[in-house]
Amino acid sequence: MKFLFDLDGTITSQETLPVIARLGNLSDKIDQLTRETIQGNVPFIESFIQRVNILKDIPVSLISDSLSRIPLYREVCDFIDNHRENCVVVTGNLSCWCEGLFAKIGCKNFSSEALVENDAVVKLKSILRKETIVELYQAQGEKVVFVGDGNNDLEAMRLADISIAAGLTHNPANSLFSITDYMVFNETALCRVLNQLC
Ligand SMILES: [Mg+2]
Repeated sequence: MKFLFDLDGTITSQETLPVIARLGNLSDKIDQLTRETIQGNVPFIESFIQRVNILKDIPVSLISDSLSRIPLYREVCDFIDNHRENCVVVTGNLSCWCEGLFAKIGCKNFSSEALVENDAVVKLKSILRKETIVELYQAQGEKVVFVGDGNNDLEAMRLADISIAAGLTHNPANSLFSITDYMVFNETALCRVLNQLC
């Protein structure tokens, strides 16, 4: 069995994009876009391209360093530590922005990719569709548990063998209510379900 985790708001106790936006004094632009995206009013791919465009000139090393200092959900990280071989972080965020975070979390990860030159994002190379990672593991014969909270987790959670909507940082997106197997609202409840499934 593989446990796939969304990153923003599921492992991190804050959304990462507002943190990045503050570094570039771009909070007003990003906050609006983030709210609309979480609620599913702007398609994720379109929103993601817009966000990267707004934030691309902020030094990549500054972003990675700042994100690595966002507090993580301790119990969720303990679960990942204890099941490291079977846990995977699946995020639409750029890998270059999340390097510090990934190092702290310590398990395998999949993310979107950008070309970086002189510490700045030059262009997007790929945007991760989370459902492709669910399919990847299912094709290897694994049962997949997917833990997410946003509209961009919807397809992955629909395809997963077991889905958990986690309302840790904000309420799960409305779209998840009709498809999720479990819904939890704190990390203790989330880890109880994860341990029951082991
Ligand atoms: Mg999230």
